[in-house]
Order: sequence, then C-alpha cells, then structure tokens
Amino acid sequence: MSGRTQLMWDEAVTGYDFGPDHPMDPVRLALTRRLVDAFGLDREMDVVAAKAAGESTLRLVHREDYIEAVKAASVDPRAADMSYGLGTMDDPAFAGMHEVSALIAGQSVGAAEAVWRGDVSHAVNFAGGLHHAMPGGASGFCIYNDASLAIARLLELGAERVAYIDVDVHHGDGVQAAFWEDPRVLTISLHEHPRTLFPQTGWPEETGADGAEGSAVNVALPAGTGDAGWLRAFHSVVPELIADFRPQVLVTQHGADTHFEDPLAHLAVSLDAQRAVQVACHELAHEYAEGRWIALGGGGYAVVDVVPRSWTHLVAIAAGREIAPDAVIPEGWRQEVFARTRQLAPARMTDGRWPVAWKSWEDGYDPADRLDQAIVAARRAVFPLRGLLA
Ligand SMILES: [Zn+2]
Repeated sequence: MSGRTQLMWDEAVTGYDFGPDHPMDPVRLALTRRLVDAFGLDREMDVVAAKAAGESTLRLVHREDYIEAVKAASVDPRAADMSYGLGTMDDPAFAGMHEVSALIAGQSVGAAEAVWRGDVSHAVNFAGGLHHAMPGGASGFCIYNDASLAIARLLELGAERVAYIDVDVHHGDGVQAAFWEDPRVLTISLHEHPRTLFPQTGWPEETGADGAEGSAVNVALPAGTGDAGWLRAFHSVVPELIADFRPQVLVTQHGADTHFEDPLAHLAVSLDAQRAVQVACHELAHEYAEGRWIALGGGGYAVVDVVPRSWTHLVAIAAGREIAPDAVIPEGWRQEVFARTRQLAPARMTDGRWPVAWKSWEDGYDPADRLDQAIVAARRAVFPLRGLLA
C-alpha cells in the first residue's frame, strides 16, 4: 500500500451555494483550499478531482424518487418539492444543485475507492461530510449524503467492517439511519445533546436495529462542553470501540462547528482540541485499520476564523506533514481573506490552548458531573451489546 495521501478537490464544489443569507457559505471551502496551498501542502499530496457520483452510485443510499426530486428542483428551483425537504429554509433549491451535490458525493466515493484499492492510504474531502441527508430527503444543509455513499461503496467493493466517527457538533443522523440495520458499519457520533440542538436525535439509547445491536453509538454532550471535556469524552468511548471492532477502513467526519465561535451551536471547543482529535483519528486508522483513512469535512459556520484553519490542520495531518499549532499563517492568505470577505484573518494556526490537558477515564469519574454522566450513558447503552465492560 502506498503511503501517499490524496486530496479530493474540484473547484466546482464551491458552487454548493444556498445563497447569500445561508450560513453554509462556500467561501469556507475556497479559503480552506487556499490555506492548504499557502502552507505548500498541495505539493505533498496528489490533488485529484473525482467524477460526480452517477445514478447507480447515488442509489446505493438514496431513493430513486428523491433523486428525481433533486434533479427537478435543480432544473427549476421554484418547483422544489418541500415534502423531500427541498426548497426549505435549511435547504433552499438552487439551479444546478443536483450536479454539485453529486460532485461532492463523487469526491467522497472517489476517496473511498482510492483507499480501498490501495492507491493511497489516506484521502481527504473537506467539501464532504454532509451527514444529515437521509435516504429519502434533504436535511440540515445536506442534499446527498457523501459520507454514507462512501461507506456504501466500500461495502459494495467487499469491505466487511467499516467504522465511522463523526465529531461534528450535530448528530450524524443520516449516516446512522443509512446503516441502522447493518452490523458491518459501526457509527459513532459525538455531538451536542439533542435536547438543545438540531436534529434532536443522537440519544445514547439509539444503538442500532435488531441484528445490528450496538452498531450505533451516541455520545450526547452537555451544551458548553469545552476542550478538556470533549477530549475526555472522545478518548473514553472511541478508541475502545475501534480496537474491538477492528475496522478495515476508518471514515471520519470533522465538522468544525464544535468551536466556541461557531454561531449555530453551543459547545466551547478550540481549534487546538479539534486538531488533537484529528491526530487521534489518524492514529486510530494506523493502529486498527492498516492506515486506511477517509477524512471528511462537515459543518462549520465561523467560515473565516475557524473552518479554514481546522481543515488545513486535517489535510496536513493526513499528508504526514502536521502544522505546528503556533505556526504563523502566511500573509498572502490573510490578504486574500480580507479582499474576499472584508474580515480580518487569524494570524496563527492556534487558539492558544495548546497543549490541551484532559483527564483519562481510567483515572476515575465523578457521578455528579454532567459530562461524565454523558460518557457513562453512552458506555452503558452500547458497550455491553458489544461484549465490552461499561
Ligand atoms: Zn454540524
């Protein structure tokens, strides 16, 4: 297996644009791509544009009537069928939405194929991670579920065990739903508690259908959880499950909306903790999945200050050329940010919280602490189903 890493990118993915008043501003993708170049990472990896996902691929996850509805809305946005979640506040229809959504999905499917074939060990699609899209409907800014499609393609190619780790602040509901009955796919989502955040699912008790018991894992974190708590939760749940499941491939979703500056959610995680989790996912892929790692983006609505830095760290980690947290951001990129957005760009690749300290689960827990209660709830719901001690 080659050690090379592939960055999936087609400039046209920046056409995934719900309009000027929508929080998912595609400038976040463009600025991330430029920051990757500013650090010279494009010279360390193959930058590859995969073809758009075709009908037969989309149908691995999505219903045919839904695909037809997306295509119709794509041709005539005014005719969008709201019963499929299209033409709504969250998912306004726009001309060409089918094509660009299929293109983003194609990058994740292409990443999966390249990793499964062994062309590369890691592949990154930060335009992907659209984890809310359901088999039969759009949801939460997501039209086609590229994460589910990448996993479905891996299964089609013969994979028997795929693990999915989702650290977006929102529950990875679409991916969980797509593989709810499939014991070959272990989905683990860490997110803000459904009581306080969209999509109001991701309770610890959601553990998979009969025949796939324990294949869905949900860690529902209290609003306000910060770096130490977030890292403690990740390390108290994820590595044990991955070690036991022994995936052949690891697919991870790195929504940057856990950040304390994010306008749409209420966790208080820094860039430095996000980077630490990215490093941990990379290590898990090498330790348990022979290095096979597909890393995706996701949410993230602090589009200048957070998303480009977070995902540039992710790309660098996958490329094997980690950027130090205190690295200074190249001036050229900061000028481009100001020219495009009239916002001041950050100066360094850190929020100044490095190194992040956190306490291991082995050191004991506090039954009165809400974070520890969330961890216990997740472990008790699912660990026994997998034969692990809760
Ligand atoms: Zn999100």
